[in-house]
Amino acid sequence: MQNTSLQGKTALVTGSTSGIGLGIARALAQQGAHIVLNGFGDTAEIKALQTTIEKDFNVKTIYHNADMSKPEEIVAMMQATSDKFGGVDILVNNAGIQHVANIEDFPVEKWDAIIAINLTSAFHTTRLALPAMKQKNWGRIINIASAHGLVGSAQKSAYVAAKHGIVGFTKVTALETAQTGVTCNAICPGWVLTPLVQKQVDARAANEGISNDDAKKGLLAEKQPSGEFVTPEQLGTLAVFLCSEGASQVRGVAWSMDGGWTAQ
Ligand code: NAD
Repeated sequence: MQNTSLQGKTALVTGSTSGIGLGIARALAQQGAHIVLNGFGDTAEIKALQTTIEKDFNVKTIYHNADMSKPEEIVAMMQATSDKFGGVDILVNNAGIQHVANIEDFPVEKWDAIIAINLTSAFHTTRLALPAMKQKNWGRIINIASAHGLVGSAQKSAYVAAKHGIVGFTKVTALETAQTGVTCNAICPGWVLTPLVQKQVDARAANEGISNDDAKKGLLAEKQPSGEFVTPEQLGTLAVFLCSEGASQVRGVAWSMDGGWTAQ
């Protein structure tokens, strides 16, 4: 079923071949937005994702394989979006990676990659998207931060630094656009069972010699009072709200959807 609240808009979602990004891309397409998919993956599978979104929601899609750690590839993706759709109306900075290690053991190249993909890429997409948004006097920028944008966890130094950074960047973007029709906000999810988190579940199961199910329960019990994972579909619903006219004075917030994680 398709709604029409975002008909005629174009949404670019970085890291949308999987997990949260894909959930948000589908939710925006359901409202009628054309979609620019980005992220890694098998070519045939990505083509199938495009076909499904186009068929399910009667919108157009393109895919760009820009590596979010490479500024010149981000420029090419933004240009391709402009060429096809005349610019980006809704920008969702979602691509992200994780690495878990104590600071003294943290591989330097992993630190650099996490900062580049989880933080710096949003600076590049935003700086390139803003001129056209300001000219149209309408735009929505949604940065997918994390509960780790608000609180820390041991062994996640680069991730927590990048996510706190993107919450700060969100506030500055919101201030610089405050008197325009462009808004910028962050969403801070708790645990969502995506490939990024499944890796941490697998590591926990292996380290503790427990089942996959028990590892999931352990992960949730440690941080997320609801004891349940947040879903990409729920995050898609929040993204749709932030794109609505009703949310036009929601500016610069870091909106938690974390099963109570950061209420503690
Ligand atoms: P995921 O691994 O399912 O998806 C990550 C996406 O980013 C994939 O499409 C992948 O191809 C893409 N990607 C990775 N490196 C890239 C690069 N260099 N260039 C372009 N694309 C790249 O992970 P997810 O859990 O859906 O994570 C999405 C975002 O949500 C991340 O920013 C993550 O930090 C954040 N987040 C996740 C959780 C969670 O519990 N899963 C919680 C809070 C925040």
